[in-house]
Amino acid sequence: MGDVHPQGNPHFYLDPYNIPKIAFLITERLCYLDRENCPFYQKNLNSFKERWNKKLSIWNKQMKKLEGKEVFEYHRLFDYFLIRYKIDISGTLESLPGIPPTTAHLLELVDISKKQNVSFILYAVYNPEKSVQFLQKKTGIKAVLLPHDVNALIEVKDIYSLFDEIVRRLTGD
Ligand SMILES: [Zn+2]
Repeated sequence: MGDVHPQGNPHFYLDPYNIPKIAFLITERLCYLDRENCPFYQKNLNSFKERWNKKLSIWNKQMKKLEGKEVFEYHRLFDYFLIRYKIDISGTLESLPGIPPTTAHLLELVDISKKQNVSFILYAVYNPEKSVQFLQKKTGIKAVLLPHDVNALIEVKDIYSLFDEIVRRLTGD
């Protein structure tokens, strides 16, 4: 059926708790390739983790108010982030990952929105806006464009501002 996620959802780096794990693996690899400078990489990893943990506690506090909210998302892009912060995914605009939305499927989402209190329609820069706007018009639910990676939006210069901007756009803080 053209699912682009046959081996599972690859967007795991959008859970901010996975970033230090990725940093650890990169450090391990650098140490393997360049044993001599391993202490340098490890020192950087430690200071990164320290800075990251401070950011995590800020994001956690900000995201607390969205706990239990429901959202639609265009693609299963933000699942890891949403699950981390206990936000329910009421549906995706794509009927399957990588399959463009059909009108019939979008109308199913309109039906869902009548029974459930969906707060946002989440989408990324490369998702076609037409179906997002269609759903927004039919339901009155606010559409929110989220950065999915560094440089996806002008505000997102690095891994810190990636999550700063996602949180800011969701919470309004
Ligand atoms: Zn994907």
